[in-house]
Amino acid sequence: MEFPSNCEAIIIGGGMIGCSIAYRLAQADYDVVVFEWRNIASGASGRNGGQVIQLDGRDKDPNSIARRLIYTKENTKLLDELTEELDYDFELNRCGSFDIAFNKKEAEELNELVEIQRKAGDKEIEFLEGKIVEKMFPMLRKGIYGARYRPTDGNLEPFKLTFGLAKAAKKHKARIYTRTKVDKILINNKEVTGVSVQGKTIKAKWVINATNAWASFLTPEIDILPLRQVAILTERLSPVEKPSPIETVIEGDVIYTTTQTKSGNVIVGGLRTQPRFRNDHYKEDVSLEEIQGSTSIITKLFPSLSHVNIIRTWAGTMGFTPDGLPCVGPIPNVKGLLIAAGFSNGMANVAIIGKLVSEYILHNGKTSLPLDPFNPARFYKRKINWPEPYNYTILAEFLKKL
Ligand SMILES: Cc1cc2nc3c(=O)[nH]c(=O)nc-3n(C[C@H](O)[C@H](O)[C@H](O)COP(=O)(O)OP(=O)(O)OC[C@H]3O[C@@H](n4cnc5c(N)ncnc54)[C@H](O)[C@@H]3O)c2cc1C
Repeated sequence: MEFPSNCEAIIIGGGMIGCSIAYRLAQADYDVVVFEWRNIASGASGRNGGQVIQLDGRDKDPNSIARRLIYTKENTKLLDELTEELDYDFELNRCGSFDIAFNKKEAEELNELVEIQRKAGDKEIEFLEGKIVEKMFPMLRKGIYGARYRPTDGNLEPFKLTFGLAKAAKKHKARIYTRTKVDKILINNKEVTGVSVQGKTIKAKWVINATNAWASFLTPEIDILPLRQVAILTERLSPVEKPSPIETVIEGDVIYTTTQTKSGNVIVGGLRTQPRFRNDHYKEDVSLEEIQGSTSIITKLFPSLSHVNIIRTWAGTMGFTPDGLPCVGPIPNVKGLLIAAGFSNGMANVAIIGKLVSEYILHNGKTSLPLDPFNPARFYKRKINWPEPYNYTILAEFLKKL
């Protein structure tokens, strides 16, 4: 394949984050090249549950809550703008999200969390009594003790968002090469010079590692942990009332689940997965045992779906960091080398990260919101004793103790 011999910025990875950065840079007439190993959205961006949850998890630190919300709220606004800007309808549906308590203790915890969040400035969040949740969300099983609810969360079609961003980047003359793996980032005298692809050198002033779960293969000085998740797609159903994303804990496992697409299929993503060793987290096939485990969760959460056919299952791998926040910004000691990886909740960040990374490049490191909370320096060459084997639930416990 013919590649350009040089350009201004190379983005490695054609997922939603890479495409979002490419779009913003190309829009500003920057000469951008994207290299994607497989195809656009072939990584986590085409394999996820579609949930847009602005504040996931059960973080109780008011400072961290306030900080995270600054970015995700801005992302919410930008997603609305993208619905107008992109040629693709990426099916953004603000149908709210629930974090559900199935026992009294959890309900008390969530109620306390809502208080903490509200004091931290999160005026939108509310605690709903179980009976109210059951009325709002009839597909859910009965016996709910309460829920943390955010009305402006919802879901979108991640394939369409990623392809929409790629198409818009191309329209502004970004060059996107699929089936093209970057083998190495080239550095000379503490300055990035380009990348090596299929034995060829492509020179650039800026290189952005947006490969998420694969990021540490190219920039090992930042340890991004791969985390595999499974999703399931049902046959088409008539419209479900409140097809909202939910977070919950079932039999000790953290579960993120459900979205109904415009075409009527229900995606149940982020289900229970068996603990695996690091390398096995890249496996994208799904075992019969996992399908059975996942369908049992669906039946427990949504009894009305117990007779519905599952037509497809898949697995994907996302990137994970010790504080749950992505690494975005310059990698220390190499001029021109940036990373934007470690996204386990990509949809809550995709638009704002594209904007901030492009601003960093276009305005000499100046950004409209500080990149400090995501500074890659916080994990630079830091050895993290990740638990092995692991899954989402084990990592959530590990983080609590860190
Ligand atoms: C099953 C599942 C459910 C999920 N559910 C949700 C959800 O509901 N809501 C949410 O917000 N998030 C969810 N996520 C996480 C979300 O998908 C990610 O946060 C998001 O897609 C990250 O986007 P990305 O562009 O950083 O990574 P990816 O989409 O993984 O993109 C990275 C790309 O880099 C490419 N690549 C790797 N190495 C190289 C190389 N050497 N050269 C060139 N290209 C390379 C890969 O092929 C890949 O396409 C889920 C993830 C999974 C797997």
